[in-house]
Amino acid sequence: MEHIQAIRGMNDVLPSDSALWRYIENIIRQTVYSFGYDEIRTPILEKTELFKRNIGAATDIVEKEMYEFNDRNGDSLALRPEGTASAVRLGLEHGLLAQGIQRWWYMGPMYRHERPQKGRYRQFYQLGVEAFGVMSADIDLEMILLSEALWHNLSLRAPLLLQINTLGTATSRKTHKEKLVDYLSGYHDELDVDSQRRLHTNPLRILDSKDEKTQKIIRDAPKLIDYLDEAAKAHFDAVCAGLDALGIAYQINPALVRGLDYYTHTVFEWVSNELGAQGTVCAGGRYDSLVEQMGGKPMPAVGFALGLERLLLLLQLQQVEVQEPADIYVVSTPGAPRLYALKLARVIRNRRKNLRVVTDCSDASFKNQFKKADKSGANIALIVGEDEYTEKSVTIKNLCNPEVAQKRLDEETVLNFVDEYNRRDYNGRILQRR
Ligand code: ATP
Ligand code: MG
Repeated sequence: MEHIQAIRGMNDVLPSDSALWRYIENIIRQTVYSFGYDEIRTPILEKTELFKRNIGAATDIVEKEMYEFNDRNGDSLALRPEGTASAVRLGLEHGLLAQGIQRWWYMGPMYRHERPQKGRYRQFYQLGVEAFGVMSADIDLEMILLSEALWHNLSLRAPLLLQINTLGTATSRKTHKEKLVDYLSGYHDELDVDSQRRLHTNPLRILDSKDEKTQKIIRDAPKLIDYLDEAAKAHFDAVCAGLDALGIAYQINPALVRGLDYYTHTVFEWVSNELGAQGTVCAGGRYDSLVEQMGGKPMPAVGFALGLERLLLLLQLQQVEVQEPADIYVVSTPGAPRLYALKLARVIRNRRKNLRVVTDCSDASFKNQFKKADKSGANIALIVGEDEYTEKSVTIKNLCNPEVAQKRLDEETVLNFVDEYNRRDYNGRILQRR
């Protein structure tokens, strides 16, 4: 019979990769914590309407990427394609957005029916960070500082490039949109098919086209930045001045737009030149009108989303490797000594919560158990054979240095030794560059 395979574009994480995943997730958790952000968790399924109404009907996500279906009651549900709409829903539903400034983060899978390729999947993981209730550019700067802290804490070797732009307010966008449509209509037949369609649905998104010919036409298109009102200009100037003061390098990219309708004012992306076409690792910006649009009181907001797979690819390219060797490997004879060994391991784990203690549960010979002990990366083997069992003792062997003779000691002495045992670093893990 044929094996059933996973769904295209939805990836398994194998043991060989999961340590790197946990490394990234742990650093993310530490970093958002250090900025004082609180975690929220929302369901993976929401009413389809939540995304349709708030992300924008003419966006790629809603037009062609959402996993929608009717459940058994006939309700239209969707697998969440992003997290911001859910975060705002949560904030309104539980009255949190009426309680002043909120700073939130969440991490989990998102779903989009895209063409799977490197760095683009149908199930992918995002870290989302959102802050509500601050109008000033300082909070935009905090978002950028937080993302920058992530790159720093992850020890990314090559820096990511920060690109920023402003989308202004709805009014400035409208004026610009008219000029843009006028301009692009003059080149209608030379635009790629997608862009021709977007000319009438979502012209701003044409600026994001990957088509070479279209890109050339865009180069001389009217720039939104030239149509900003005073307030939008002042906000953007404050962001740029802040970045200068903080010494964060950036590039203003007038063609930077986001694929979601709710963005206003500042938008930004962190881009890597090591990932090919899918170079955007992190993207975000302000969405000052979304809360009101969703039925709340007007409330400024800013956030970003970071794709964990792209970060993982980047760390792998930079040859970051996380090893999680066992600390202690327990070798024993099946039967009564084995039970004694299991008990001993239990005592050690209770006393030293961070140690990895692996007990061999096989019927293999000591020779083969030692082979597995070496493979586990453990520094120490504890051996329990018939003699050790009858004498309530344990033989301890240094796996790193075969010169050191193994010793049989009473249980208490071994436990005291293990209490002192230490060999590292980050959460019991070893971080290495090859
Ligand atoms: P892109 O232009 O790369 O499609 P987007 O504008 O659709 O990005 P957002 O919705 O802003 O991206 O998502 C933020 C981040 O989430 C992206 O920068 C990327 O790192 C990640 N991401 C988005 N879609 C996918 C996907 N299909 N597979 C893997 N990661 C993704
Ligand atoms: Mg996309």
